[in-house]
Amino acid sequence: MAFENLSNKLQDVFKQLRGKGKLTEADVKTAMREVKIALLEADVNFKIVKNFIKTVTERAVGTEVLEGLNPGQQVIKIVNEELIALMGTTQSQLTFAKRPPTVYMMVGLQGAGKTTSSGKLAGQLRKQGRNPLLVACDVYRPAAIKQLQVVGKNYNIPVFEMGDKLSPVEISKKALEYAAENRNDVILIDTAGRLHINEELMQELQDIKEVVKPQEILLVVDAMTGQDAVTVAESFDSQLGIDGIIMTKLDGDARGGAALSVRSVTNKPIKYIGMGEKMEDLEPFYPDRMASRILGMGDVLTLIDKVQQNIDEQEAKEMQKKMLSNEFTLEDFLSQMQQIKKMGPLKDLMGMIPGMNKFNLDEALNGVDPSKEMAKTEAIIQSMTREERLNPSILNGPRKKRIANGSGRSIAEVNRLLKQFEEMKKMMKQMNNMQKGKKGKLPFF
Ligand code: GDP
Repeated sequence: MAFENLSNKLQDVFKQLRGKGKLTEADVKTAMREVKIALLEADVNFKIVKNFIKTVTERAVGTEVLEGLNPGQQVIKIVNEELIALMGTTQSQLTFAKRPPTVYMMVGLQGAGKTTSSGKLAGQLRKQGRNPLLVACDVYRPAAIKQLQVVGKNYNIPVFEMGDKLSPVEISKKALEYAAENRNDVILIDTAGRLHINEELMQELQDIKEVVKPQEILLVVDAMTGQDAVTVAESFDSQLGIDGIIMTKLDGDARGGAALSVRSVTNKPIKYIGMGEKMEDLEPFYPDRMASRILGMGDVLTLIDKVQQNIDEQEAKEMQKKMLSNEFTLEDFLSQMQQIKKMGPLKDLMGMIPGMNKFNLDEALNGVDPSKEMAKTEAIIQSMTREERLNPSILNGPRKKRIANGSGRSIAEVNRLLKQFEEMKKMMKQMNNMQKGKKGKLPFF
């Protein structure tokens, strides 16, 4: 998970502060020494760490005592605010041209995630009602054009390509004409990368820039390359000029140093972060939400976004109706689990709930992986016939044995699931009764 190590370390430091009624200057300094080590280990740029610690220490030592917060909480509050500031304070949205088409140039080194991010971004723009066009300008890597075509097909986005014989500049020119004829209002140009920054690459990008006059040049960098990503961003910005950064593969980067440093070093905002392979895993970057995640304070807003993107409102309403009218079946239970699964690993989702920090989440789960548990339950229900799912009371010994064999689970596990399901239904019935007692209103609505 992104920032996992840093998050764990910071939470360790703050756990020690939390218990204290009063903080001395020495307490703050000790804590800050540990925060400094944690940030350096997360591969945050050294100068940034130094400034960060200085600012937090000054604020924490000289701070006025706020009502309602104990001294430990106050330090956390200051660290939270400074982390947010470090990452750019507010969300930086994509801008659109006043007169379409809006052209975005996707640039970056090979393997950073340009092609996949272009596809994800185009897919999201399509969802917002725009009509994007992907343009294949990577004429050096033989598989690149094909890759963009596959990505385009996945998201149902047209891809403009002219093979690998013309220059990227000529292809870009033709792409603009094509877009005008086909009423594409957003054009995403997937440029070629190189293994390292070199003059040839920069010249080519300059030439494309002159022809297409992009609304934004978006630099795609790989979070897992740490401070190298920051250096790459500095070079692209000074030689070409960039408008924003897409930082990919943050899902695999337990340190997070690049994400924390790049804004301060380049003064260019991270606009999106890549948190996985799916379209919605390219998330808009919110500094406050990220700080909250790092400090184990949850990220309920991202959780809500995920629910909204993945769960159909109408379906959710019908499900609620079924629950309250006692019609909820194992079939519904299965479909509900499948919807939840679309939102990502359960443990990550649980970590977004405020108060669910590393300590109590680990304690609550006690070594159990909730995604694995859900997969077991799913396998059992999937091994049932539709008739059995709708009416589990027909499940006798031989049927249970067949289901256990089919799902690779034991009969005891099948029985446990049935019992849990019965209890769930009982609870729903109680809620239903409460609702009736309150004239059609649930107590917590
Ligand atoms: P390009 O050479 O810059 O066009 O890079 P690609 O788009 O081909 O991406 C390189 C690899 O990184 C591919 O295997 C992608 O699936 C993977 N990738 C891109 N973004 C992410 C991300 O946010 N998370 C993860 N886990 N993988 C990613």
